[in-house]
Amino acid sequence: METMATSGISSKEAMEMENKYGAHNYHPLPVVLAKGEGVYVWDCEGKKYYDFLSAYSAVNQGHCHPKIVGALTEQASTLTLTSRAFYNDALGPYEKYITTYFGFDKVLPMNTGAEAVETAIKICRKWAYEKKGIPENEAKIIVCENNFHGRTTTIISFSNDPVANKNFGPYTPGFIRIPYDDLEALEEALKDESVAGFLVEPIQGEAGVYVPTDGYLSGAARMCNERNVLFIADEVQTGIARTGDLLAVNHENVNPDILILGKAVSGGVYPVSAVLADDDVMNVIGPGQHGSTFGGNPLAAKVAVAALEVVKDENLAENASYLGKVFRAEMDRIISQTDLVNAVRGRGLLNAILINDTEDSSTAWDICVALKENGLLAKPTHGNIIRFAPPLVMTEDQLRECVTIIEKTLMEFKK
Ligand SMILES: *Cc1c(COP(=O)(O)O)cnc(C)c1O
Repeated sequence: METMATSGISSKEAMEMENKYGAHNYHPLPVVLAKGEGVYVWDCEGKKYYDFLSAYSAVNQGHCHPKIVGALTEQASTLTLTSRAFYNDALGPYEKYITTYFGFDKVLPMNTGAEAVETAIKICRKWAYEKKGIPENEAKIIVCENNFHGRTTTIISFSNDPVANKNFGPYTPGFIRIPYDDLEALEEALKDESVAGFLVEPIQGEAGVYVPTDGYLSGAARMCNERNVLFIADEVQTGIARTGDLLAVNHENVNPDILILGKAVSGGVYPVSAVLADDDVMNVIGPGQHGSTFGGNPLAAKVAVAALEVVKDENLAENASYLGKVFRAEMDRIISQTDLVNAVRGRGLLNAILINDTEDSSTAWDICVALKENGLLAKPTHGNIIRFAPPLVMTEDQLRECVTIIEKTLMEFKK
């Protein structure tokens, strides 16, 4: 791999400082990144890597996309933050752009994915009391086992991951958890008349890239509609072309009542998230009832428009769809030659390989360290699973080079 001097600090020094002065709420792979461009990142010593995580699908448009960075730097020297106490001249055009883009009446702008999920929960509850007529404080939202929706107190209250929620109680009530990809369980849960919403990831990313059975999302949306329950799609990870369509729900022609976006809305340049809904739902929120100092700021607005334009201009959904098929076919070929990997699954460029070892073994981690040595960065997710999610601006030649790296690493790997 070609190298490039990039940093005034060594990787070793940077890791020591993070370990000493930073809270230990992450367990990073031992690599320190100092520069990014397109599908590549470089460490402090100038070693070049393929990024196969894309900051958990925030960098779909590639690192430091010139058009998005251009929008950022131009707006940064013009106007950055006004708060919503005043109007700003970038928010309205952004709101018009993103609602037209995704086909909703209105958007509520926030910053992070977790905030957008919180926003959707608040909208859903308020809608339940004011539109559906559920008695006050009785509204329930159905969620799925092994969900990942973020890190706030309320969101971890309905997680079943003990790492995420142990010793953070007491928990927020009002959630019913059912198995994922199980329409019968949903039908049963929907019999409760105090149910206001069903919050679901169209593909469970963090859980290990679980793609539900065909017909699950459309069936769930139809059942929710019949029961006057809001179908709330958390597309923070699956949205913005990642799965080979603009949204993962598009694969089943589902129109969610509430759509939650984050991560790649800004191409990873700035924290931008969004909640979209039509007027009958969104209009339950009035002045003072929800907000954020930074939500909807002009910098975020300009960055998001540029990032969403890149997705269309560069046909990222089509590219993800095509490259995803190539990738899974290549992984299947490799899997047939090794007993280290059991299967590959995914959609578009959101994929995972399942390592043939016990859940508590370090094999997936050790493979990721070996991949790093060979110039490709990926991270294990829950269980012995490695998620592969490169930026969507990748070319076929680059993808095939990555397949070669993965193949070589797996063939040479010794447990
Ligand atoms: C990452 C993610 C979130 C949380 O987003 P943050 O910006 O980290 O708060 C929520 N939902 C899903 C599906 C995600 O992948």
